[in-house]
Amino acid sequence: MAPVTDPSSLASFSKCVTKHLNLRFHVDFDSHVIKGNVALTIEALEDKFSSMILDTKDLKINKVTANGQDAKFTLGTAHSFNGSPLEITLPFELSRGQHVIIEVSYETSPQAFALQWLTPEQTAGKKHPYLFSQCQATHCRTMVPCQDTPSVKHTYYAQVSVPKELVAVMSAVRDGQEADPKDSSRTIYRFRQAVAMPSYLIAIVVGALESREIGPRTRVWSEKELVDLAAYEFAETETMLKTAEQLAGPYVWGQYDLLVLPPSFPYGAMENPCLTFASPTLLVIAHEISHSWTGNLVTNKTWEHFWLNEGLTVYLERMIAGRMFNEPFRQFKAMGGWKELQDSINTFETKSPLTNLVPDLSEVNTDEAFSLVPYEKGFALLYHLEELLGGPEVFMGFIKSYIQMFAYSSVTTDDWKNYLYTYFKDKVDILNKVDWNGWMHTPGMPPVKPQYDTTLADACIALCKRWIKASKADLSSFSAADLQKLSSHQVIEFLALLLPEDPIPLSHVKRMQEVYNLNAVKNSEIRFRWLRVCVRAKWEEAVPLAFQMATEQGRMKFTRPLFRELYNFDKYREQTVSTFLKCRSAMHSVTATLVAKDLKEDEGFLDTVSSQDNSRGVRWAVRIEQRKQKLAVIRWAEQVWPGVPSDSLGDDRMYESTAAEDRHTMLFDRRDIDVGSGCGSSCSI
Ligand SMILES: [Zn+2]
Repeated sequence: MAPVTDPSSLASFSKCVTKHLNLRFHVDFDSHVIKGNVALTIEALEDKFSSMILDTKDLKINKVTANGQDAKFTLGTAHSFNGSPLEITLPFELSRGQHVIIEVSYETSPQAFALQWLTPEQTAGKKHPYLFSQCQATHCRTMVPCQDTPSVKHTYYAQVSVPKELVAVMSAVRDGQEADPKDSSRTIYRFRQAVAMPSYLIAIVVGALESREIGPRTRVWSEKELVDLAAYEFAETETMLKTAEQLAGPYVWGQYDLLVLPPSFPYGAMENPCLTFASPTLLVIAHEISHSWTGNLVTNKTWEHFWLNEGLTVYLERMIAGRMFNEPFRQFKAMGGWKELQDSINTFETKSPLTNLVPDLSEVNTDEAFSLVPYEKGFALLYHLEELLGGPEVFMGFIKSYIQMFAYSSVTTDDWKNYLYTYFKDKVDILNKVDWNGWMHTPGMPPVKPQYDTTLADACIALCKRWIKASKADLSSFSAADLQKLSSHQVIEFLALLLPEDPIPLSHVKRMQEVYNLNAVKNSEIRFRWLRVCVRAKWEEAVPLAFQMATEQGRMKFTRPLFRELYNFDKYREQTVSTFLKCRSAMHSVTATLVAKDLKEDEGFLDTVSSQDNSRGVRWAVRIEQRKQKLAVIRWAEQVWPGVPSDSLGDDRMYESTAAEDRHTMLFDRRDIDVGSGCGSSCSI
């Protein structure tokens, strides 16, 4: 077997692999730090094994031992996004097959990418702080030194000490709690994950949590203010689990709990084993349940094969929807996915290699590569194969067999494809006609558009066409009855169909509001698309609503496109950037990084931004330039208001830094820029 390489990891996992982690966390809300100790059970894969590398990022390493003896360690130079390699030299040699326990005591940084620390004000209860993690794809290394690659799977055990008024939960089965023997104001919670899984699925939440039982193997967790609503919303979980088991085989993880996070969570949900994280805007969890098989049980070997996690999960999710509702509904969702794919590809540069189904991620930050492409291009390929190979029942037979074949392991696209050829050995001539290179290694839309049943979509298409073709005189023909015939899924589709078209005229958007009252709709999938339609039509009345939705929740699926639409509305570009800057510190770091990119921070988005400090009568602007790897503030004193001597502004000064966080500090920290301080009185940074 060829050695595995993973461009997103610096760990030496071809020399040794992790079998188990024993974690001890002391969660410190005062300093926003986890004081951690991890004992890794490592198996040597080669003789004369005496050194290894673990992934870390922004960790402070205090001590390393090997089987209890002190071991030498050094932290290598930090890579721009992959972190710093922790090189460990053992005081002895192992031969292939032997195990060693490497114990590392360390501290996380307050800026750890995996961790978001919320103040009491950012929670529903307003009384207690809150912590949650998000390790996918490559952030576990900011929380635990480990082999942070999905090609390695291990079990884990954890003991977590937290203030006793708070509760800890993890992506594992709960194993009791006790008073912390070292500190009577704290409680230790214990967890056991007995199924081997990749590091990116380690997850922790600490907060004033409560739970309700909603099924024989399911509890829903959240702050107490939200828990009854959450129990109601996810009442169908057990039915979905049973449907998924019929399709994909037994559920191996024991418990299936759900945790509803505060609104700043950047993803709709995260499929952490035993404990799916869900955002309050999530409506269905068929997707997360499906990950219990595709993703968590059979895992992509590196993030270049992410479509094996996501494309297969979308396929399974839609199959569950088809079983629970009907086949036309599955077809309807599939067709909607094709449009989402088009929309997603349009946000990339033409021919961006990141729109390949199997992208090359050498020197690519996985957060920046994240898009719907692996989900929907992956699904489209599977649906295309389903059409070619004999329909849904036949193809689902293959998926179930693939899951059994590769359960508990990590796979590449070649592993998947080879098994496809083995399973359909009497249909090889059909498979040979598939344009594999076009599907997998070519940017843009797939080479073939599958055929979908349009029964449910036709009504949405017809309504969309009516609006696009309508003249001013036709506007009176629209009425509330148009939408009453449609399900909420069809309303979402109707609005989605308007998005790739030219913006509809302002008169039309106003009329749409008059007859459909979409401003009042709470369903976030509808609201999100409606607000995009409004901003595109340059309807200023909708702008505050779009700002509100972009900032009051942090789900990237909604926040990023809304910020992009607002940025594209010339009149509000400056406000878009300043709103982002105000909210940045309260945003999840992944969301903040990507929105900054969307708003062209790299090209100096602050060119257009000015701010004023009325108390000093100074209006200033700064400009950021990227110079090689460095960023520089090259101009800052812009204009002096009447009555203020211009020499009080001083000379141009230059600040240089390599880190994005520093860029933020150098702009807004008063110690660095003392004139035109920060972003004025309205700013909360
Ligand atoms: Zn997923």
